[in-house]
Amino acid sequence: MKLKETDSAIYGLLREEFDYQKSTLRLIASENYTSKAVMEATGSVATNKYAEGYPGKRYYAGNQYIDQIEELAIERAKKLFNVGHANVQPHSGSSANIAAFFSFLEPGDKFMGLELPHGGHLTHGSPVNFSGKWFRAVAYGVDKETEALDYDAIKKQAIEEKPKLIICGYTAYPLMIDFKAFREICDEVGAVMMADISHFAGLVAGGVYNSPAPYADVITSTTHKTLRGPRGAIILGPEENGKKIDKGVFPGTQGGPLEHVIAAKAVCFHEAMQPEFKEYATQIVKNAKVLAEELVSLGLRLVAGKTNTHVLLVDLNQKGITGKDAQAALEEAGIITNRNTIPFDTRSPFVTSGLRLGTPALTTRGMKEDEMKHIARMIVKVIENPNDSELKLKVRSEVEELCGKFPIYGDVSY
Ligand SMILES: *Cc1c(COP(=O)(O)O)cnc(C)c1O
Repeated sequence: MKLKETDSAIYGLLREEFDYQKSTLRLIASENYTSKAVMEATGSVATNKYAEGYPGKRYYAGNQYIDQIEELAIERAKKLFNVGHANVQPHSGSSANIAAFFSFLEPGDKFMGLELPHGGHLTHGSPVNFSGKWFRAVAYGVDKETEALDYDAIKKQAIEEKPKLIICGYTAYPLMIDFKAFREICDEVGAVMMADISHFAGLVAGGVYNSPAPYADVITSTTHKTLRGPRGAIILGPEENGKKIDKGVFPGTQGGPLEHVIAAKAVCFHEAMQPEFKEYATQIVKNAKVLAEELVSLGLRLVAGKTNTHVLLVDLNQKGITGKDAQAALEEAGIITNRNTIPFDTRSPFVTSGLRLGTPALTTRGMKEDEMKHIARMIVKVIENPNDSELKLKVRSEVEELCGKFPIYGDVSY
């Protein structure tokens, strides 16, 4: 390895990060472990190329191989998600959403998105984000009783507000979305239907989550969450929206695409078409359900009471601990999670009353139902005794032992 000789500081830190990823339990719902093949493509010579434009229409010479890489990525994305058009250039989920807004809205236009504390994303209308600053964002929420989407209430609100665009698809919502219902709402008010499937794209690809493809005018997604590819994003849609979508990305909001990442996206799409990926997606949901049931049986309350996806939200209110403190105590024990607001949370987004847990990364390691039950017990013990240092040390060694049985990457050095 050259890096070890030329930059021992960064090399050393990458090694430490690798050891940390190996020896801790990642329950962050948006994280995963990519394959070695994806990492190899990400670290490839395609990083050296400028390729502004699209295959066959570049603003730089020398793109004959880069064009083929991007074309392959596009074809695979279209096939995987069963759509007429795919743009594989967005640098991240947020960049994809900026581009989609650029394609379908004018500054100042009104749109509707799920409120952040109810599970929406920053880019869905938060006042501190471009989406809330440059557009008129109207938030819809989940129902106070069921903590689920109430499609009739959203329809009523849409009829009153007449938004130009409605976003569905969230970062912390444990239930499956009814995309057909959103299509009907959008048709009723003449709004563009935008589905942001960033979190659960892998579940859609694996056939265990409804696909928005038959309904949405535009679909954005990250590639690094359940889809298990490199950090990046895509925008999909029906063929007739292709030109609009492409213009929104380049020249609308981005310059040169990251062709090394696009190569890695192509690798990821190929992997996601294999039968093993279906099994993987199925197991993610099975694991989440078992984790949820076990936590409930140990006395925790879940938002909406359950999950039928990859993610669950724990309401910590009855346990007398904040999301911030629970996250910190679990981190000390080697269990990596993130605090999260819950619907109608009375605490700030920095403190929160909730904890978000997800199973994509653990499932990639090969963990199954038995491990989920074991992990649930460890989580509850730590949450109930957040200041017990001895207990946290004991759980930390239990975590390391469990991780040792489900190794990642084998012989890769960092
Ligand atoms: C993660 C996420 C994003 C943002 O992705 P980044 O790559 O972090 O910019 C956007 N929308 C949703 C729904 C997400 O879950």
